[in-house]
Order: sequence, then C-alpha cells, then structure tokens
Amino acid sequence: MSLLVIGTLAYDTIQTTAAKRADVLGGSALYFSVAAAAFQPVQLVAVVGRDFRPGDLQLLEQRGVDTSGVEHADGRTFRWSGRYEADWNTRHTIETQLNVFEKFDPKIPSAMRSSQYLFLANASPLVQAKALDQVDHPAFTVVDTMNLWIEIMRPELLALLRRVDGVVLNDEEARMLTGERNLLKAASLVLGMGPRYVILKKGEHGAFLMGSDVHFSLPAYPVGMVVDPTGAGDTFAGGFMGYVARAGNLEPKTLRKGMLYGTVAASYCVEGFGIDSLKERTRRDFDVRYDELLSIVTP
Ligand code: AMP
Repeated sequence: MSLLVIGTLAYDTIQTTAAKRADVLGGSALYFSVAAAAFQPVQLVAVVGRDFRPGDLQLLEQRGVDTSGVEHADGRTFRWSGRYEADWNTRHTIETQLNVFEKFDPKIPSAMRSSQYLFLANASPLVQAKALDQVDHPAFTVVDTMNLWIEIMRPELLALLRRVDGVVLNDEEARMLTGERNLLKAASLVLGMGPRYVILKKGEHGAFLMGSDVHFSLPAYPVGMVVDPTGAGDTFAGGFMGYVARAGNLEPKTLRKGMLYGTVAASYCVEGFGIDSLKERTRRDFDVRYDELLSIVTP
C-alpha cells in the first residue's frame, strides 16, 4: 500500500558528551523515510533551501524514497541544534531555525494524493492539517508532534487530533498534552481527544500501543552503545508505519508486529550519528533483530 510522509528535512547540530557534529542530515521526515523504506517505497513531501546538498536527496532516492514532492525554496534549510546529557534521556534544544519551513505551504503532488497510509511527521499542526486536506481518503493517518507545538499551537493540534487515526507521543509530550503524570491514564485521555490509537514512546524504557482493540507494551531493544539518539522517535514511527503499510491491514496482530519493527528501527538509529547506521540497514537486518527482540521478550 502507498505510504506518504510529510515533515522536515533538516541540517542538525548535535552535541553528545562524546562528540559534536554540525550540519548532520536530519529532520523528522528524513528519519521516518529512511526507516520505512526498508519495507516499501515511500513518498516524501518536504521543503529544503538552496543550500541542500544534492547528494542528500540522492541518498534518499537510492533507498527507495520518491523525492519528487520535495520543494526547493529560496533561503536556507530548516536547522535544529540540540545537546544531550550523559544519561541520553535529557535533551536540550539549543536552537530551532525554521528558515524555509517558516513559509512552507505543502503541496502534495497529484500522484501522491491517493496514498493510503499517511504519516504527518513532526511539523507545525497547521502544515500537517494542510497536508491532510490534500490527501483523498487515507486509510490510516498517524500524526507526530513535539513540546514546542503543544505549547504554542495547542488549539490547532487538538483540532488535528480529531481528524487522525493515530498519534505518536513521547512520555513528556503525553504528560504535557494531558496534564496527567501516569502514562496509562495519559494515553486514555489522548484517546478521548480523537485518535483510535496512541503510541507512547518512553526512550530506553520502550513503548506501548493503546487502542480499543489492542494494548501492547514492549521494552526497547538493548543497544550496546548509544551514539546519538536524535531521530529515534521518527525512526520508530517509520519502522512501524513501513511494516503496517507493507502488510496492508490494521489487524491488532499487524499493529503489534509493527511495534516490534519500530523498536528495531529505533535501535539501529541510535547506534550511529544521524542516519549513519540506519541507512545501511536492509529489511533482512530488521528481520534478524526482530527475531532477537522476540526471543528476549518471550519466556
Ligand atoms: P526526534 O529525536 O525523533 O525527536 O527527532 C529529531 C529530528 O526532528 C531532528 O532531525 C530535527 O531536525 C527535527 N526537529 C527538531 N525540531 C523540530 C520541529 N520543531 N519541527 C519539526 N522537526 C523538528
């Protein structure tokens, strides 16, 4: 089934306790696409500036991502910079430069409007809603967001949540959105806001999926050495949606398996800087680690 993502392509400056790197290829839609493309072709809608390196688009094309929906605008590409504490769980955003993203008015190419599976990756809820308006009858729309948008565009985000099938949130975002500390209760409250499914990501503590017909919880895959957690959430969503779109149905078992593939994808992401490790991974690698994860959680 066709899978469309809209979100950011970015150049990130990332600081960990071990290293600092500038202008690392990133963005919410980047991580999602690279992970999902291990399963099936992905259609990408985003905006980049004149400074965007042509080789970075080629990398996506080679992975099976259709970049014909990427707009080239006058100005600089979206930039984000962040710093991690030694425990990886605390991230400080140092700076967000919207640049060409500030005036982004997404245009979904006509060939992509019939997409069945739609992921609205982290972006302003207004941009996400404009994209959703242009897709004919998506069978499964999932949205991601972040603390910034919950703070500054709450009404727009709540309006969007009423129109989508699923939402992915990390623990901090779920608490911020609902005001509830207990994550199970927070997930129930989010379901009351509209979506049929909520996926709650808890970083190294794993993730759970809640919906009326499914409740599933998983630990993270135990990674030997974390190099850079940037993009792990988007990558999780890419593994999940890539698998589910490939399966082409929303059976509870498919969604559960999607959670395992999301977990596997995120584990590959954090093992390298940016997409260094993730971009090398094939469906076969995903399957190998899927089996390992399964053996870890089954008695
Ligand atoms: P994650 O670690 O999964 O939260 O994703 C990190 C990625 O999100 C980075 O590559 C950033 O470029 C991108 N990002 C950071 N802030 C925003 C924002 N406000 N809107 C969209 N994407 C963002």
